[in-house]
Amino acid sequence: MSVDGTLTLYVSSSSNEANCPYCSHQSDKVHSRYTRTLCDLPAFGKTVQLCFHARKFFCLNAGCKKKTFAEQPGNEIFRYRRRTRRCEVCVHRHGLAMSSPQCSMLLKSMGIKVSGATVLRDLHKMEIPDSSGVKRIGIDDWAFRKGASYGSLIVDLTTRRPIDMLPGRSERDFSEWLAAHKSVWLISRDRATSYSSAAASCAGAVTEVADRFHLIKNLGECVSDIIMRRYEEIRGELGKYNGPEECAANMVVDKRKAYAAQRIKEVKRLQAEGKDIQTTAALLGMAAKTVRKYRKMDADAELEGASKKKAYVNEVKFNEVKRLQSEGKDVRETASMLGMSPNTVVKYRAADSFPVPVRRKAPGLGSHTQYVEEQHGRGVSLNQIYKNLTSTGLVIERTTFYRHFSYLPDGHRGYRSALQKARMEEEWEKGAACSVQKPVTELPPSRQLSNIVMRSVLDKKLSESETALLATLTRMEWLSELHEAARTFRDILKSGCPSRLDAWVEKYRGSSIPRFTTFINGIRRDTVAIKNAVLFKESNGILEGYVNKLKTIKRSMYGRAKLNLLRIKMVRSAFSFN
Ligand SMILES: [Zn+2]
Repeated sequence: MSVDGTLTLYVSSSSNEANCPYCSHQSDKVHSRYTRTLCDLPAFGKTVQLCFHARKFFCLNAGCKKKTFAEQPGNEIFRYRRRTRRCEVCVHRHGLAMSSPQCSMLLKSMGIKVSGATVLRDLHKMEIPDSSGVKRIGIDDWAFRKGASYGSLIVDLTTRRPIDMLPGRSERDFSEWLAAHKSVWLISRDRATSYSSAAASCAGAVTEVADRFHLIKNLGECVSDIIMRRYEEIRGELGKYNGPEECAANMVVDKRKAYAAQRIKEVKRLQAEGKDIQTTAALLGMAAKTVRKYRKMDADAELEGASKKKAYVNEVKFNEVKRLQSEGKDVRETASMLGMSPNTVVKYRAADSFPVPVRRKAPGLGSHTQYVEEQHGRGVSLNQIYKNLTSTGLVIERTTFYRHFSYLPDGHRGYRSALQKARMEEEWEKGAACSVQKPVTELPPSRQLSNIVMRSVLDKKLSESETALLATLTRMEWLSELHEAARTFRDILKSGCPSRLDAWVEKYRGSSIPRFTTFINGIRRDTVAIKNAVLFKESNGILEGYVNKLKTIKRSMYGRAKLNLLRIKMVRSAFSFN
């Protein structure tokens, strides 16, 4: 044992002879002796070093091309290596699981001294297992950099392991790979056309299977789009049903903003009375910093303009998108010119008028708002109201509850002095009488409506109010038709009877809903693969999981790894750890 805690073992072979590695001839004629130092797995938390007294032998076989050879006893020590085999396996496994610097640090702490560069060099030397006989594969794309460059991941659906990664997602990339893997007869894919055309141009007969999850997802997007475009109509219909006043009062007022506006007015009044910042802060129970900020702000602007500011900017962007659309610019160009996300551009292009943004609220609390405000008005504390609500079976986190009702005087969990509380309550009284605080009405946003429709299509459980809402919605003929069509489509996917698809397409291809006919045209273009999706059980589910894993690996190396290293890590780790 040395001073730095390294355990050194002096070892030598007990055998008198050794076999020549070139001709396997046995020899007992020693040529010379030398010492090799090897690192082994740690013991008792200490670094273990093997000091191996090796011998060189003469090769006694006259026909051998070598005169001498060094002995390599056992299965742990190999030529030119600085670590034993088991130690190397340990380094490789750690290297596959994390970034090289991390791996180096972790192994050092365990007692294996290895640098990050060595780990990386060893990883690059690894070979990808041969996958030439693969029969059924799944393919999906993944992003090097989202929106900029993509690659493809291929998984063997029989062994459920990733077998290769391609540098792109174009038809050419995939057809080259297919040409080198002629044994493939089944390809599961999402609805990307490039993979499909690569498979079509492939020499052998390949069965394509469209992914059912993506089909349902596309259907959901279609339903959501249609509902968004016809939201006005639905609002009209709901208005008829719920009574006109509820529809008319459909203006969500940001209560925080209203409260801030009141505070600004207070600060301004005290400023006009000649109070300084410190006094104002003490009187109103707020920070001096906030007082300074409020002095510069305009209460009316806060109430009117500020809450609309973001919406206004978006509306301007909406008009820009529309203008560029009419000039014939495509989604990508528009997005980069305006510095917007392509998804938003697509949404704006599809909409006829500027879609009104909806304020996000805590789910499940909307229907309790009236009760909570009523109770609060009677002087019951929020804490007590929360207890009452949860005792009746409502499942909601305390933090979420408090955040939702943060506009009420005791709607926060931090400390407030009695003076502050009294003042806030006084203001709440004033505020309650003030006309700006209109009640928030329950008119579900379009996304929620499409969510309810799709959940009903997928046979998920709906609450009573949702069922009632759905019944109201399906009074509209077009929505009833859409709902029925979506349900049938989903039934066909589960039925195992692909011939039903033709009848379905035939029935709905003349539908009066334009966006829906687009969806059906997509189905018609991809009929064979979709029929296979009904027939075969293969899906792309496992690929989605592996793409998630790939993202983690990519980020564990801070996005610096190139395809080669990512490929080794993805493919080899599936083999090394399974
Ligand atoms: Zn030999």
